[in-house]
Amino acid sequence: MEKVKIAQYWGAGCGGCDVALLDIDEKILGVASIADIAFWPIAVDAKLKDVEALPDGGITVTFYNGAVRNSENEHVAKLLRKKSKIMVSFGSCACFGGIPGLANLSNTKEILEHVYKHTFSTVNEEGTIPLTECEVPEGMLELPVLYDQVLTLDDVVDVDYYMPGCPPTVEQINQFLDVVVKHLTEGAPLPPKGTVIASEKTLCDECGRKKTVKAVDRIYLPFEIDIDPEKCMLEQGVICLGPATRAGCGAKCLKANQPCRGCMGPTAAVMDQGGSMLSALASIFKVSDKETQLSEDDIIKMMSQVKDPLGTFYAFTMPKSIIKKRVKEKKKIKEKVVVKQ
Ligand code: SF4
Ligand code: SF4
Ligand code: SF4
Repeated sequence: MEKVKIAQYWGAGCGGCDVALLDIDEKILGVASIADIAFWPIAVDAKLKDVEALPDGGITVTFYNGAVRNSENEHVAKLLRKKSKIMVSFGSCACFGGIPGLANLSNTKEILEHVYKHTFSTVNEEGTIPLTECEVPEGMLELPVLYDQVLTLDDVVDVDYYMPGCPPTVEQINQFLDVVVKHLTEGAPLPPKGTVIASEKTLCDECGRKKTVKAVDRIYLPFEIDIDPEKCMLEQGVICLGPATRAGCGAKCLKANQPCRGCMGPTAAVMDQGGSMLSALASIFKVSDKETQLSEDDIIKMMSQVKDPLGTFYAFTMPKSIIKKRVKEKKKIKEKVVVKQ
C-alpha cells in the first residue's frame, strides 16, 4: 500500500495539541509505518512551498489545531484544505476558538497597545506597535495581519471532522486513527461528515458524582472550600460546566477534584455552552418562571459572586457562542415616554 500523507498545523494555540499527537506513544509507530508526514512545523522541516507543490487532495488527513487569529493562519488553513482529503478541526481552539477566543472580549488595537505600550514585558520607549510591512535595506519585511476577531477553523474552511478537547485525549486520537487506517487498508466507511469525535453524552453522565437536587445559596471558588470528592460540585456551590459540556474526556478534572471548565465544548443538543450553563445554574439556585425561592436582590447578589462570568461560562467557546465577541451598544437618545393616565 502506498504510504498516506498526514499534516498537522499549529494556528493560534498553545502547542499542547501538537504534543497530544505525540502522546499516542507506540501508536505513532503504527502511523509512521503507513504514513509520511507531509507538513508538521514543530516536528519536520517541511516548508509551505512543499505543500503548495502537492496535488490537490495529495494529503490524506490534516489535523489543524489552534484558532484562526491572523492572515497566515487563514492562508495555511485554506492551502491545507485544498491539499487534504480529510480536514480535522483538532482541539478546542480550532473547534470553538478555545482560550485564545477570549481575546474577542477586546480588540486588536487595545491588545497591541496593552502588550507593547502598557506592560513591562517589553522595553519600548518609542511605543512602537508591530507593523505588517516594513521597508529595510534588504527588502520588504512582512508580518501576518492580526485579525480583530478570533475565528474558528470552520469559519474559514470546510471541515470534515471535529475533535474537541484541550487537548484531545489519546483515546479520541487513537479512535480516529483506527477508523482512518481501517478505511485505507480495508475500505471500511468513514464516519459521516461533521461527526464530532467524542461522546454524545454530557459530562455529568460520565462524572459519577452523587447528585441530590440540592439548592445552593452561595457560589465558591474551588480554593474557598474543602470540596467533597464524592458529591456534585454544583451542589457544593462550585461552578462546574458539566451539565453543558460534552463527555469524552473521562471527567479528568473531576477526578482531580477540580470543576469542569468546559473544554470539550457543548453537546449536540446545546447551541450555546455558556447560555446552557447559565440555565443549569438557575435551576440550582431554584429560579424558574414558576418557582422563585430567591428574591431578585438575592439572585443579583449570587451572580455577583461569579467573578468573571464570560471567562467562566465561555472559557473555550466565545467565538462559537451566540455573542461571539464584545459589542458596544451605540448610545441612543432616550425618548420620553408619556403614559396617559
Ligand atoms: S486546544 Fe488547548 S492544548 Fe490545543 S492548542 Fe488550544 S489551548 Fe493548546
Ligand atoms: S455538575 Fe460537575 S460535578 Fe456535578 S455531576 Fe455534573 S460534571 Fe459532575
Ligand atoms: S473535565 Fe471539563 S475541562 Fe476538564 S478535561 Fe474534561 S471537559 Fe475539559
